[in-house]
Amino acid sequence: MRIIPADEFQIERSVEYGMPDQNETVRRIIGDVAANGDEALLRYTAEHDKMTLTAAELRVTEEELQEAYRSVDESVLQAIRLAAANIRAYHEKQKRNSWMDLQEDGTILGQIVRPLKRVGLYVPGGTAAYPSSVLMNAIPAQVAGVKEIVIVTPPATAGAAGINPYILVAAAEAGVTEIYRVGGAQAIAALAYGTETIRAVDKICGPGNIYVALAKRYVYGQVDIDSIAGPTDIVVLADKTADPQYIAADLLSQAEHDVLSSAILVTDSADLAEAVSQEIDRQLAELPRRKIAAEAIAKSAILLVKSLAEGVETVNRIAPEHLEVMVQDPISLLPLLENAGAIFLGSYSTEPVGDYFAGPNHVLPTNGTARFSSPLNVDDFLKKQSIIQYSKTALLRDAEHIMTLARCEGFEGHARAVEIRVKKEGEQKT
Ligand code: NAD
Repeated sequence: MRIIPADEFQIERSVEYGMPDQNETVRRIIGDVAANGDEALLRYTAEHDKMTLTAAELRVTEEELQEAYRSVDESVLQAIRLAAANIRAYHEKQKRNSWMDLQEDGTILGQIVRPLKRVGLYVPGGTAAYPSSVLMNAIPAQVAGVKEIVIVTPPATAGAAGINPYILVAAAEAGVTEIYRVGGAQAIAALAYGTETIRAVDKICGPGNIYVALAKRYVYGQVDIDSIAGPTDIVVLADKTADPQYIAADLLSQAEHDVLSSAILVTDSADLAEAVSQEIDRQLAELPRRKIAAEAIAKSAILLVKSLAEGVETVNRIAPEHLEVMVQDPISLLPLLENAGAIFLGSYSTEPVGDYFAGPNHVLPTNGTARFSSPLNVDDFLKKQSIIQYSKTALLRDAEHIMTLARCEGFEGHARAVEIRVKKEGEQKT
């Protein structure tokens, strides 16, 4: 793995906007589904997923779900249940209350917090079917109080019901209420506009390929969407006390995701840099997904800094999705680490702990967006309403200021809506 001074490192950000023909395909599919409903869904499913279904077969049945439970490995089911409990407990702490503030003059100001009613979750098909992602997307929605959580996922020929059985059991454990066998842009269109079988949702979450990502962008506004995820990344910030074997393993665990993944070590120790570089070569040779990981590692780097302070600065500049801090006193750096989606402190907090099990969400800001955005959380499934009950005393007290502001903006009608009340109150008094 190449070792370079941190200030020579150029950050590459990749945002996928798709090729013109892909955009055109997505636009056409969405229009078709909005106009022709189920008939279009079934046609695209036959074309892209090579599955001929009837409308009645779109929804996964209770029997198919039970069949999935019978087919899965008991130890995986147990791990899914324990992970789900941890994820639920963590997200329970994110819940927020509505509040009402009663002021001395009788005015009430407040905020009501309500869950979205219906949410759709896209689960990719093929080899990218991750039960952990089902838990991480669906549980915060359920904790927020969303009553209807819908999954769409493309059918494949293998597995129970044409869908990976681990996806089905994770969905059931996470409180998903409906699962439909449909994928791609057509599934996103169905969630956004509704069809005879799939009712429209208020928000769409979850990763997918370029057609899914473009479709989500396209329907934004009709429904809300989560962020569009970029390639995954990790930064490890380490000093000479860190274990090079642990660091190499953690960098590789990220690199094996995708050839576009980025895995970076930032360190003030030249000895550690050299040891990690050698250890990467050793471990890479034995990794089953070494072809993917090697390509990602070739684009990644070990960045040498002169001090931990420069290391912190470098981390904040990169704004990683995942940050592991393996220095002598990791918690002391915490106040300075402003830009990172999830921060893993110390040698035993390897990223997979957070990916699968500890409880915090693994849907994190990629592509440097940790500068301004947060991990997926309960708030993403809540909306807020403002409440204003002004008392007579308060209105008479503030009327002049309100009318002044309204007239300053040229809204005489606004001013008069206040004035009419002030006048009437004056007349009633005399
Ligand atoms: P997918 O479910 O995203 O897409 C499959 C669907 O794409 C098909 O059902 C079909 O409708 C549509 N499609 C394919 N070719 C098409 C074409 N030529 N025209 C129109 N539609 C077409 O599954 P996938 O393709 O296996 O991709 C999974 C994706 O999910 C990968 O890109 C992976 O990187 C991504 N992923 C990302 C994360 C993350 O956290 N960022 C996690 C898991 C998966």
